[in-house]
Amino acid sequence: MPLVSMNHFLPQAKKEGFAVGQFNVNNLEYFQAITEAAKEERSPLIFGASEGAIRYVGLNNIVALAKVAAEESGLPIALHLDHGSSFEMVMKCIRAGFSSVMFDGSHYPFEENIRLTKKVVEAAHAVGVSVEGELGTIGGVEDDLDVAEEDATLANPEQAIRFWEETRVDAMAIAVGTAHGMYKGEPKIRYDIIEKVASNIDAPIVLHGGSGVPDESIKKAVSLGVGKINVNTENQVAQVQVIRELLDKNPDMIDPRKYLGPSREAIKEVVKGKMRLFGSSGKA
Ligand SMILES: [Zn+2]
Repeated sequence: MPLVSMNHFLPQAKKEGFAVGQFNVNNLEYFQAITEAAKEERSPLIFGASEGAIRYVGLNNIVALAKVAAEESGLPIALHLDHGSSFEMVMKCIRAGFSSVMFDGSHYPFEENIRLTKKVVEAAHAVGVSVEGELGTIGGVEDDLDVAEEDATLANPEQAIRFWEETRVDAMAIAVGTAHGMYKGEPKIRYDIIEKVASNIDAPIVLHGGSGVPDESIKKAVSLGVGKINVNTENQVAQVQVIRELLDKNPDMIDPRKYLGPSREAIKEVVKGKMRLFGSSGKA
C-alpha cells in the first residue's frame, strides 16, 4: 500500500472515538520498531518527521524508509511533517513524497496564522495531502522549539473554531495544558477546551506533548474528541535506558546491532502500549 493522507483514518477515529498515534522517527530503528508494533496491533500509523529529524536522516531517506514500511506492511501509514515552520518547507516535503504536513503558525498573530495556514491547505489539498494546523502555544522543548512555561498560552476555543472554519485543516492542534518533552508532575489538561472545540468542528483535536500524561487522562481526552496523539519522548527514554544498561554491563561491546537491536524492542513495546491505550489497535 502506498503512503496515505491522514484522511484515510482520522475521520473514522473521530467518529468511533479512538486516536491514531504519531510516532516520531529519529533513525532506521524507529521505522522498524514502530512498523513492527503497528503490524502486531493491526493499527493505522503516522510517522512524524520534525525538521530536525529531516536534517539528521535526510529528506529522501525518510521518504524511502516510510514508503518501504507502507508497502511491506500493507498498513495505512501517513508520513507527516511535524511542526513545519514555513510554506517552503511544507512544499519541499510534499514534493519529496510526504502524504501529510503540519504547518505550525501558532507563533504568528491569529489572523496571520489563518492566512498562512489557508495557503498551505489550498496547495496540499490540491495534491491529496492532509494538513494539521496549530493554535495556542505548547510549552516545553522539542527540536527547534523551546517555549518557556510562562510563555505557553492555551488556545481560545472560539478562536480555534473560527480557525478551523476558515482554514478547513484536517487535524487541529490546540494548546490545552500539555507540554513537549517528559511532563514533570501532573499536567492540568483543559478538557473543557477540548470538548468545546471538538464538538464544533469536523476535524479531530491533536494532543502534542502526551508523554508523561496518565493513561486515564489520555482516555478521557480521546473520548472528548482527541483523534491524534504525538509520541516521541517516551520512545527515546525507553531506547536510551536499554543502550545505557547494555554498554554499562558490556564495555567491550562495539557492534551497533548488539545495542541498537535490543533498544528497538523497547521502542516497539512502548508503541504497542500506546496503540492499545489510544484504541487504534485492530483499526487498520
Ligand atoms: Zn508538537
